[in-house]
Amino acid sequence: MKAEIIAVGTELLLGQILNTNAQYLAQECALLGIDVYFQTVVGDNPARIREALEQAGNRADLVIMTGGLGPTLDDLTKDVLADMTGRKLYLDEATMVKIQELFNSQGLHMVESNSRQANMIEGAEPIPNDTGLAIGLGLVHEETRYLLLPGPPKEMKPMFERYAKHWLSGIMTDELPLHSKMLKFAGIGESTLEHKLFDLIEKQTDPTIAPYAKEGEVTIRLATKAHSEEEAWRKMAEIEEEIRSRVGEHIYAQEDVPIEEVVLAALQSRNQTLTTAESCTGGLLSDLITSVPGRSSVFLGGVVSYSNELKHSMLNVPVETLEGEDAPGAVSPETAEAMVRGLLEKTDCDYAVSVTGVAGPTMSEGKPIGLVYVGVGCKNGDIHIRRLQLPGLRETIKLRAAKSALYELWK
Ligand code: ATP
Ligand code: MG
Repeated sequence: MKAEIIAVGTELLLGQILNTNAQYLAQECALLGIDVYFQTVVGDNPARIREALEQAGNRADLVIMTGGLGPTLDDLTKDVLADMTGRKLYLDEATMVKIQELFNSQGLHMVESNSRQANMIEGAEPIPNDTGLAIGLGLVHEETRYLLLPGPPKEMKPMFERYAKHWLSGIMTDELPLHSKMLKFAGIGESTLEHKLFDLIEKQTDPTIAPYAKEGEVTIRLATKAHSEEEAWRKMAEIEEEIRSRVGEHIYAQEDVPIEEVVLAALQSRNQTLTTAESCTGGLLSDLITSVPGRSSVFLGGVVSYSNELKHSMLNVPVETLEGEDAPGAVSPETAEAMVRGLLEKTDCDYAVSVTGVAGPTMSEGKPIGLVYVGVGCKNGDIHIRRLQLPGLRETIKLRAAKSALYELWK
């Protein structure tokens, strides 16, 4: 199925807001096996919306539009589609009741224009809006399917997830459903991973193998069209096994979860606690850890010992390790180890993790940008140190260093 996404809104054209709806919908379509061939942005102008709609209707099987479903006079999407398809608009009763109730509950008077949000096109299927007022719709007209959703992402996303997907599966009956499987990797960069799987990726046909990097992690998505999940799993098993035989030690999950979630869940299930000592990541590791809700029993806290002074005073890293002509320096396995020891001595944690490195943009202690040492220690005194040479600019190095620390912990 060939699809096209049209985002309506003059503020998008002016660059006042970013078209994140198109990004979200494009990703969702990919997951559903729908090929997106074009993305368009058009202002709140009926003639130009119609032009974009006609063009899309001629070349796509599915046109997904967001924006312009609100109450104001510049919200025109439904009017234009009704006009173009020669269909009438009517008011959806359930939505009208909801809008009226909302106004009553706030003691406000409903004005005529508010009812526009309850507009439905004849023959279309309503797409309910649980988080807002403007109702969406799915319409099959001649050879083309139209899906209209409101602009605010907080409304659009749940509508897509809860209702539009269902509508889409109903109109895609002639196609085999796409099944996909995620493999999430840590402790390995995208290019290294691609290099190790180069031949598999190059000769892929079915199942498809799509690697991509996002937020310091790498994901491989395997996908295939099949009648059932079992059949799909069977088709993907061989390729997955081959991937595992080459880079299996880096796979930490089979669903789209960040590594911090997996690490914290594992520690919590064993009733274990964690502390951190960070230098070059400046608290980013603690930030990632505390982004996971409901795991406060695991993380005792962390020290951002950016300076040598604090590495010494807070974590007992010996001055001789940090400074002096023959000293290993702040970016060294010795310092990473001493930071971990400091945490283990000063706190009652089960695991302690440290990060020290050169995030750039300049070298430090004569050491190259991207050189990072991660230390992981546990209560029984075992400590291991990992040396990393990370590519990228400062922000990327920081994120990769924090994610690598989590990976070392997970291993
Ligand atoms: P409303 O009832 O809020 O008017 P609407 O369906 O008419 O909803 P718009 O008026 O087009 O939607 O947009 C409302 C707001 O939604 C925008 O100001 C913007 O914050 C957000 N929005 C709209 N389109 C997009 C988009 N493509 N990507 C991200 N955000 C968007
Ligand atoms: Mg609007």
